[in-house]
Amino acid sequence: MDRLIQGFNRFRREVFPHQRELFHKLAQGQQPHTMFITCADSRVMPELILCAQPGELFVYRNVGNIVPPYAQHVSSVVAAIEYAVKVLKVRHIVICGHSDCGAMKALQDPERIASMPSLSAWLRHADVARHVVAENGPTLEGEVGLRCLTEENVVGQLEHLRTLPAVAAAIANGSLAIHGWIYDIAHAELRAFDPARGGFVAVLPGSESAPDATPLARFALTGTDA
Ligand SMILES: [Zn+2]
Repeated sequence: MDRLIQGFNRFRREVFPHQRELFHKLAQGQQPHTMFITCADSRVMPELILCAQPGELFVYRNVGNIVPPYAQHVSSVVAAIEYAVKVLKVRHIVICGHSDCGAMKALQDPERIASMPSLSAWLRHADVARHVVAENGPTLEGEVGLRCLTEENVVGQLEHLRTLPAVAAAIANGSLAIHGWIYDIAHAELRAFDPARGGFVAVLPGSESAPDATPLARFALTGTDA
C-alpha cells in the first residue's frame, strides 16, 4: 500500500498542479466521448496507451473484456453501458482485447479454471469465440489459437453489445458507433476489426477504425489468417 500512497502523493505534487484547471472543470461533471471496455489485466492501461486525459474515457474493465448479451439478469457491465449511452451519451464504444490474455488461455484449456466456478461461469459468455474457432479456425492451440480466440471474442462481444436495446437504438439513429480492437502488449500495436475486410487491420495514425462491426464470413474470406 505504501507504494500506492506514495504514488498518490507524487500525483498531487507533480501532476495535479499542471492540470488544476482541467480537474476543476471535471469536478463539475463528465462528458466522455468514448466508453472503453477492456480486460482487467494489469498490463492494459487505456489512458496510458491512448494518451487520454481525465474525462475522456468511460472505462469499464472485466476479465476477458466481456459484454453478456441482453437477458433477464443484469450484469454490471451492461448497466454501465446503459448509463454511458443514455446519460453520458458517448459517441463510441470500444471493446478492446489484448495479447497474452489469461481469459483467452482459459478458453483454450478450461481445466485451468476448473476450480473457480465463478470465473468458469463468467467465461461462458466467451463460449462463442471458442465455438467459432473450434469449428472454423485452424486450431485452438498455441499462439495461433490464442490469437484467433482473442479476435473472435472481440467480435462475439460486439455482437452481444448490439443486443442491448440502448445500444441498438443509438446505433440505429447514428449517434453511436461500436469498435472492436486488439492491443498487442509486446509490440505496442493496435488492430481494429474491419467488417469490410472480414478481419482485423492495423490502426494507423490518421485512420479511423471501422465504425460498425458486422461479422462477415471471416474464415471464408481470409482463411486461417482471420
Ligand atoms: Zn485479458
